[in-house]
Amino acid sequence: MILDGKAVAAKVLAEVKAGAADYRNRTGAPPTLAVVLVGEDPASAVYVRGKKKDAEEVGIASRDFLYPDGCSQTELLATLKMINADPGIHGILVQLPLPKELNEDQIIAAIAPEKDADGLHPMSLGNLLGGKPTMVPCTPAGCLQILDHYGIALEGAEAVVVGRSRLVGKPLAQLLVGRNATVTTCHTRTRDLAAHCRRADILCVAAGRAGMITGDMVKDGVVVIDVGTNRLETGKLAGDVDFASVSPKARAITPVPGGVGPMTRAMLMRNTLLAAQRQSGLA
Ligand code: NAP
Repeated sequence: MILDGKAVAAKVLAEVKAGAADYRNRTGAPPTLAVVLVGEDPASAVYVRGKKKDAEEVGIASRDFLYPDGCSQTELLATLKMINADPGIHGILVQLPLPKELNEDQIIAAIAPEKDADGLHPMSLGNLLGGKPTMVPCTPAGCLQILDHYGIALEGAEAVVVGRSRLVGKPLAQLLVGRNATVTTCHTRTRDLAAHCRRADILCVAAGRAGMITGDMVKDGVVVIDVGTNRLETGKLAGDVDFASVSPKARAITPVPGGVGPMTRAMLMRNTLLAAQRQSGLA
């Protein structure tokens, strides 16, 4: 079975669209997302364009805060202070990665937690750890949403997460633990990656290494969530999982593209709506 991220994302976006219309009717203004982009990284520009298009389609307003390379930490912090205080802005997205000379951690921590649409603020991550209501980072939230949509049981399942980044691996492992899976997190110092992967009922891979998980590393009936997004020399997009050798053994698998990517974008819209609803006492 192909876990169709495009289709599940379309369903989430339709729900967000209805929620955003309801929000607008009740408050007289749309949920609004501030998009902060620094520098001229072409990939970041493409991502931001996609997010703004999604917002437009679901009735979420977006406001741009664009800065050239060389923008200072002080300038960016001042912008965030201003956006944090603006009651007409409900969600804030700072497009990552920021240019190297900027202190990314400090910038993320300067976002008002209630407007943290990306779910990466230390308070959001702390709440996730504590099992409290929070903004869940978009990619891990998307992974869970796709598993839930297809009715994949998590309770008691052996889940293996390859990758331990703050953006994906760690919060995803935490979400899976929260749903009573037994979770193993693997990384570059893991001694026998294949042995861990072979035990997995649910294998989530977020390493950024094209095709690193091959058919001999998984058991029959595994459910595979491939977060990897790797641009090959040919220009094609490839996941971390070698689809050709893994899919014949898998019970279910996400394709790349068309799996986790669209889910991440949809969850950003959902987080923005949720932020607006919470700030207006509607959720
Ligand atoms: P990251 O910050 O580079 O983290 C990669 C993680 O994978 C690290 O924890 C690293 O281990 C581990 N790793 C790397 N090579 C490994 C190997 N050979 N064996 C075992 N573990 C290995 O990357 P990220 O931001 O989490 O992103 C991971 C991938 O997901 C990338 O391809 C990225 O483009 C993609 N992504 C996709 C979406 C989407 O919406 N589809 C969203 C976000 C990210 P160490 O900690 O030991 O270094």
